[in-house]
Amino acid sequence: MTQDLIAGIERQLDTLAAQSLMRRRRTADSPTAPRQLVDGHPMLAFCSNDYLGLAAHPRVVAALREGAELYGAGSGASHLVSGHGRAHAQLEERLAAFEAPHLVDARALYFCTGYMANLAVLTALGSDPDAMIFSEALNHASLIDGARLARAGVTVYPHRDVAALEAQLIASNARAKIVVTDSVFSMDGDLAPLPALLALCERYGAWLVVDDAHGFGVLGAHGRGALEHFDLRSPNLVYVGTLGKAAGVGGAFIAAHASVVELMIQRARPYIYTTAAPPALAHALLASLDIIEGEEGAARRAHLNRLIALLDDTLKLARWQRPLSHTAIQPIVIGGNDEALYVASRLHEQGLWVPAIRPPTVAPGTARLRVTLCAAHTEDEVARLAATLNAFEHQLERSAA
Ligand SMILES: *Cc1c(COP(=O)(O)O)cnc(C)c1O
Repeated sequence: MTQDLIAGIERQLDTLAAQSLMRRRRTADSPTAPRQLVDGHPMLAFCSNDYLGLAAHPRVVAALREGAELYGAGSGASHLVSGHGRAHAQLEERLAAFEAPHLVDARALYFCTGYMANLAVLTALGSDPDAMIFSEALNHASLIDGARLARAGVTVYPHRDVAALEAQLIASNARAKIVVTDSVFSMDGDLAPLPALLALCERYGAWLVVDDAHGFGVLGAHGRGALEHFDLRSPNLVYVGTLGKAAGVGGAFIAAHASVVELMIQRARPYIYTTAAPPALAHALLASLDIIEGEEGAARRAHLNRLIALLDDTLKLARWQRPLSHTAIQPIVIGGNDEALYVASRLHEQGLWVPAIRPPTVAPGTARLRVTLCAAHTEDEVARLAATLNAFEHQLERSAA
């Protein structure tokens, strides 16, 4: 009988392999940075979300060490029992003040991961079966799962389609309405039309939950993210920022009206029923915020923007598609799973690490290379990537002709 159980699993794995959908992990032997040792080989990486290059920044690393000296390694319990430490409290105050220009009566709440923060927001705001969640078609998996877990109904609106969303809001007689969207779409790099979405939410009395995983620290003159980029301010906004990407450490936060945050503390199960993140992480994040808010953060954002423009200027592709993106996420859509995997493995042979993203993360037939740029890259490194991709695409075109 046990044999049958395992044979069933192995059939599922064989099916994935036959569709070129098996994923494999590579093991990094050095800190997150453009130049890494991976499985023992030197590589130039274009795959992390460490957009400002803070994950291995000496000041952040020193703060993590200091945090461990001050507070130990673990928190010992959930926040509501005894795991809520001084560092967590300080971090929440800093984050609330940072996002305060865009919210009304702002308060912030720190979570272990962005995945959990998204589950928390949607299950707490959408706890009523008579509520409705309006979810953007290309939302991140954690928002999709949060909507599934909520008691509220769910309706999906097409990508960036403000008119379709308005029609859905007009037709709905839900008691509470929650519109939820990524700000920067994680596999495409384009932006949600947040000003138009917020105008709708204010008109129809809906919450606008903005998942700014790829905007926090990067967008806006001060790095406050998508709300600063679009110059928005509203009591309807519920902001989710992640802290393992541009902030370089780990965890996430919600910033919103103080009452929304109080509801999370009282009701959100992904907040209540889990051990608080190690306080040293919160202490390290205070150092990340110092950098993000200061001159160094501004200089790193300016350099990143130069690299984005450089890649745009130097890539000359005919066979593969490049959806319009002005962010650090620069997809190159190849189409088939096999070709995407083949290109990624050829790049890998040249010492370039660019992940091939396949279904179900993206729609079938849109397998892609997901290039991410970060402030720790040099202009020469970006030029090398572009030249390699140009030459390689040219070769494939010629052999296809
Ligand atoms: C990475 C990501 C998350 C999850 O954040 P983690 O802190 O990694 O769990 C949520 N939403 C989006 C859009 C993301 O890209």
